[in-house]
Amino acid sequence: MKHCLICFLGMALVLAGAGALPAPRRAAATDVRTFVLGYSAQGRPIEVTQVGAGPRKLVVVGNTHGAPEANTYRLTVELIEHFRATPTLVPPGVRLAFIPSINPDGLALGWRFDAAGVDLNRNMNTNLDACPENDWRVTVQGAYGIVSDTGGPYPDSQPEVRLLRSFLWDAAGAIFLHSNAGLVFPASCEHAPSIALAERYAGSAGYAYSRLWPNYTITGGMHDWAGSLGIAAITPELVTGDQTEFAQNLAALQAVLADAEALLPLPEDGLVAGLSVPAPVYRYWRALGGEERFGPPLQAARVTPAGLSQTFRNVSIALRDDLRDTPYYVQPEPLGVAALRDLAYGGAEALAEPAGEVEGRRFLETGHTLRGAFLDFWERGGGVEVFGLPLSEEFTTIAADGQPRVVQYLERVVLAFYPEDGGVRLEPLGARALALERLKQPTAPLMVR
Ligand SMILES: [Zn+2]
Repeated sequence: MKHCLICFLGMALVLAGAGALPAPRRAAATDVRTFVLGYSAQGRPIEVTQVGAGPRKLVVVGNTHGAPEANTYRLTVELIEHFRATPTLVPPGVRLAFIPSINPDGLALGWRFDAAGVDLNRNMNTNLDACPENDWRVTVQGAYGIVSDTGGPYPDSQPEVRLLRSFLWDAAGAIFLHSNAGLVFPASCEHAPSIALAERYAGSAGYAYSRLWPNYTITGGMHDWAGSLGIAAITPELVTGDQTEFAQNLAALQAVLADAEALLPLPEDGLVAGLSVPAPVYRYWRALGGEERFGPPLQAARVTPAGLSQTFRNVSIALRDDLRDTPYYVQPEPLGVAALRDLAYGGAEALAEPAGEVEGRRFLETGHTLRGAFLDFWERGGGVEVFGLPLSEEFTTIAADGQPRVVQYLERVVLAFYPEDGGVRLEPLGARALALERLKQPTAPLMVR
């Protein structure tokens, strides 16, 4: 099953019986929308302004490096005002989104880093591509050749990076504005759409094109993370550190919009274990741990009232059209909640909330606590957005592999501890849900001979 919003729209037009399809329409003023995507570590809003509603989503990100590159924030604001005044500049096939500052804390604090002192352009999980040299690491190179431990505690650890990640599951292109080296470079690991986009942007802005950032190897960079997922991703560096260079960047953006179908390839569905996985679900699955974490898909994606859902061995991943352009557009379904309802054994003890002081992190919403290896796994793996809140304490039971194991129920998953290697794995809730569903189906006559 291929998820395709345009197919549905196209079908709706056909069903409407329109002999002559309406002419494609340019974006109208009503298609300009400003909203808060989420909040920085210090609670500052991270805003998005979006122009147009087409399937090719192009995201312009300003101000990753805070105050020293404040001109990229001002440039993005100027671009927003321009497109707000003339939204018809955005062709009907494109959704143009601007994030004026992905690092509002760094902008307010007067430095390059986020509030925790992490370089957001060194924090992403760039281990997904075929180029080991750009893989995430703690010790990174930064401006002026300074080497520092500012990559963050682990890949994708910072809230701003996680928000950005969630906004790019359905992106076709991403432009990460920086200053002030005066050149444009694409994702470093060979990716033809990123290279083509960088060449066009540089040529139209009058900036130099460079195949690689010439000064050193960037690890954990946003452009490399995006490129590894198939997004045409580039980093333009303005020439100056204080001017917005509006005319040059507007010209570059208009050149990209004018050739959007060639330069902004639509996100591609994946093919895993012989099954098609819709593009945003595939990106999510792959970026957050792939087959090792979630297991393979067990069946084709199914259409749901809100979008679609595909069941993997350990989770079901839902795509919610009603939550598009929010951090919850792609999310695992609450299979842990359903499994907990059927918990027949070990239940009472597991559900009792611990009294008094507890080690670990206690969640007031549910009264339960994550600790040790489970807490570490939860934090690194994506936290509440991916796994949900704990619904039980840890307890020992027979796990799906037949072994007695320490497990814990969360909203979207069940965690199991493997002392053999000290690892945490997800119990096969997707397989369980499918098996229960099949048992509930009426028996077909041919089955009862
Ligand atoms: Zn920068």
